[in-house]
Amino acid sequence: MPMSRKGSSTRTSTERGRRGPTPPSPGAAVAAGPAGIRSAPDAFVVPVAALRRTVGASRHEVRRGIIEDLGAVTAAVPDGEPVVVDVTLASYPGGITVRGTVSTRWVAECRRCSGPVGSEVTTVVRERFTPEGGTDRDEDAYPITGNDLDLEPMARDAVLLELPLAPLCAPDCRGLCPQCGANWNVGGCECAPARDPRWSALDALREPGEDGLA
Ligand SMILES: [Zn+2]
Ligand SMILES: [Zn+2]
Repeated sequence: MPMSRKGSSTRTSTERGRRGPTPPSPGAAVAAGPAGIRSAPDAFVVPVAALRRTVGASRHEVRRGIIEDLGAVTAAVPDGEPVVVDVTLASYPGGITVRGTVSTRWVAECRRCSGPVGSEVTTVVRERFTPEGGTDRDEDAYPITGNDLDLEPMARDAVLLELPLAPLCAPDCRGLCPQCGANWNVGGCECAPARDPRWSALDALREPGEDGLA
């Protein structure tokens, strides 16, 4: 099966070169993962006809799949990184409520030193899904299309809200020298500005010779 990734990459440069192995093409991961957990193009589509016939009925669903181009300017979910949706669907007269969690991992470049940053993220979701074109269509709800409910748009929105706008490798990252580009987390540089005196205690802990100014 040819690698059929659609179009050219529109991803940001923040995760450039971050993952070595070739990411799986969409659909290549069918049947991967534990029983009942799918990674396929329709990984997040849940048939809900039976559920909708019984108001008050509920069902637990765990879905796992790849969501393409899931990222913002500052951070992104790496290619091939699965998103896990673990939710309970409950039927109510107007549609279906979906409550649970969305989990994945993001990577980014530190905004001060450009070093790698990344974190697992799990976010809580509480959403409504209502029939598309229904008479009492809920503008804040996601659509139920025919007999199916697609959890992917909800998962995408939930993850995007969790991505950091200003990722830092550490709260006290010292950044790069604006003059020579030296990474001040690693050591000093020959440039003029005096170093922040708050760091002198840390400097004293460094191995002799590790820092060019030591
Ligand atoms: Zn940093
Ligand atoms: Zn410098």
